[in-house]
Amino acid sequence: MRRAHRVLDGAAPDLATILDEIATDVGPSVGRGRAAQQVPALAKRPTDRFGIAIQTVAGERHSAGDSAESFSIQSISKLFTLTLALQLEGEALWSRIGRRPTDGSFNSLAVLEQYGGKPVNPFVNAGALVLVDVIMGHLPDADEQVLELVRSLSGNSAIDYDIELARSERELSHRNTALAHLLVDNGRLHRGVEEVLESYFLYCSIEMSCADLAQACQYLAQGGRNPLTEEAILTSSLSKRTNAVLLTSGVYADAGDFAYRVGIPAKSGIGGGIAAIMPGAWCAAVWSPALNESGNSIAGTHALELLTTKTGSSVF
Ligand code: GLU
Repeated sequence: MRRAHRVLDGAAPDLATILDEIATDVGPSVGRGRAAQQVPALAKRPTDRFGIAIQTVAGERHSAGDSAESFSIQSISKLFTLTLALQLEGEALWSRIGRRPTDGSFNSLAVLEQYGGKPVNPFVNAGALVLVDVIMGHLPDADEQVLELVRSLSGNSAIDYDIELARSERELSHRNTALAHLLVDNGRLHRGVEEVLESYFLYCSIEMSCADLAQACQYLAQGGRNPLTEEAILTSSLSKRTNAVLLTSGVYADAGDFAYRVGIPAKSGIGGGIAAIMPGAWCAAVWSPALNESGNSIAGTHALELLTTKTGSSVF
């Protein structure tokens, strides 16, 4: 027998209930896994948090748990730097970065070497370092522009870098430094290693809440348009294609399992956040700091699986 799904639209009365149910259902998963170890300041943060927020294209907003608490978005910043780099270079960007799924760890030197020094996609660290290099090549005030983009997408002018966190990560960044040098050796970076790394860590240190992220990703649910400003952030083609790259490489090496369980494009970060997009319908963000081996939030992934299941949502 075919199972009826609750269909999500602007008038759906039970979306708030669904989020409350999810917050209860994921309870046993919260704290399961390990906080990120790469960034010492993150490793020390508590893991007993869970937040979820959703915003529909019709403007309906709901949240549950610690959805208003700011956390370190880490790799989710790569989605915003990719967007800025696509604004600046369009399709030409892909001559410098590939679109292969992530195989292995997101900071692998071996994978970078294997593909001749060309990053496999924009969401592994090597790819993100090239994104920073691209942005810096166009914009002398790149650090201000990245923050400006995130603030205008989220409608929250208080969003900021956590300079202390960025500094602490920079001090212990042997692997990212090695990646940057390998990129230079292969002619893939045009700026100095130090300045690229400094901005890269700054972007990773952005602090946002689930509610901020659910708003900030709306443009990817709305054909590239920021509903707050009516500005075209990306063309509808580039918005669609950004979602394709998210689906194939937005959640580290878990793209296959995530597509199977959750079924929509998403970007995760080792701070425990995941921003997920149901094109044409809604964006959701979840946060819970304990991670699986790949670097994805265990409770966060579970929550998104429940969300798409309970609402009958999938890009498939
Ligand atoms: N700042 C982290 C790093 O470079 C980001 C990793 C992530 O969230 O994937 O290792």
